[in-house]
Amino acid sequence: MANSKYEYVRQFERENRLLPDIWLVVRIDGQGFHKFSAAHNFEKPNDIRALQLMNHCAQKVFDHIADIRLAYGESDEYSFVFRKNSTYYNRRECKLISSVVSLFTSCYVLYWSQYFPDQALKYPPSFDGRVVCYPCDKHLRDYLNWRQVDCHINNLYNTTFWALVKSGKTETEAEETLRGTFSADKNEILFSQFGTNYNNLPPIFRKGSIILQDFVEVESNDKHGNPVVKRKKKTVVIHEDLIKQKFWNQRSFLLD
Ligand code: ATP
Ligand code: ATP
Ligand code: MG
Ligand code: MG
Ligand code: MG
Ligand code: MG
Ligand code: MG
Repeated sequence: MANSKYEYVRQFERENRLLPDIWLVVRIDGQGFHKFSAAHNFEKPNDIRALQLMNHCAQKVFDHIADIRLAYGESDEYSFVFRKNSTYYNRRECKLISSVVSLFTSCYVLYWSQYFPDQALKYPPSFDGRVVCYPCDKHLRDYLNWRQVDCHINNLYNTTFWALVKSGKTETEAEETLRGTFSADKNEILFSQFGTNYNNLPPIFRKGSIILQDFVEVESNDKHGNPVVKRKKKTVVIHEDLIKQKFWNQRSFLLD
């Protein structure tokens, strides 16, 4: 198309191309989800429907953008790890963030009714996004460790808080009971007052969700009809401890 005399305004545009050959992590987070979760009657402390909807949306993003190696989610947030040498959108910061945020958000609305068949969506949810560059594998692993520890700390607090509230304490009383307590104290309250062994709670609540491509064994039949087991790469959602070295030893391809 011919240039017009107006085209010069393009020079005002600013591009931030992210440094080459380092990890890129796009993290999105629900805007005002404290209010959103109350308005849509999320179960406390953990609404499994909401977590599964988040995982569904994240899996769509993961499958749509081949350069995403790994995704980690908890609560109303998801982190998407792009491989180091990704050239997706020429590593343009705004394009990376906005494409992930908008695809995730439109999926959230599109799939809402699958997970909340009896709860109308009352207003449009929105997510914010940022991208952070991590030069070394250690930084990337510490980033993921940080998010999984955050998941654990929040979940232990919220589980104890809501157990106290559901047993008759007011929210202010529950807050006061928990002020200054350590993890061991909360585990003890849960066990002695509510008979709950924290470690037996569902891993999705305690560890969050990890999306990656893993080898799975698929059973099928060969051309003679004999059963054969093949190893195939498949997108999976798991709830493991990614802080442990074992997680990475089993999947060394993640850091290639
Ligand atoms: P901001 O806009 O600053 O992110 P926010 O209200 O979204 O504010 P967050 O720190 O992101 O605050 O916390 C998200 C909140 O959403 C949690 O504190 C919790 O109340 C709620 N929430 C998110 N997911 C769930 C879930 N699966 N079950 C129950 N509550 C949830
Ligand atoms: P990119 O992802 O780089 O933006 P694109 O395919 O979206 O690529 P654009 O330059 O944004 O390309 O152009 C949008 C295109 O979408 C238009 O060229 C036109 O073909 C189509 N389009 C958008 N709105 C309409 C519309 N209302 N009616 C018909 N076609 C439309
Ligand atoms: Mg939020
Ligand atoms: Mg992918
Ligand atoms: Mg959050
Ligand atoms: Mg356009
Ligand atoms: Mg376009």
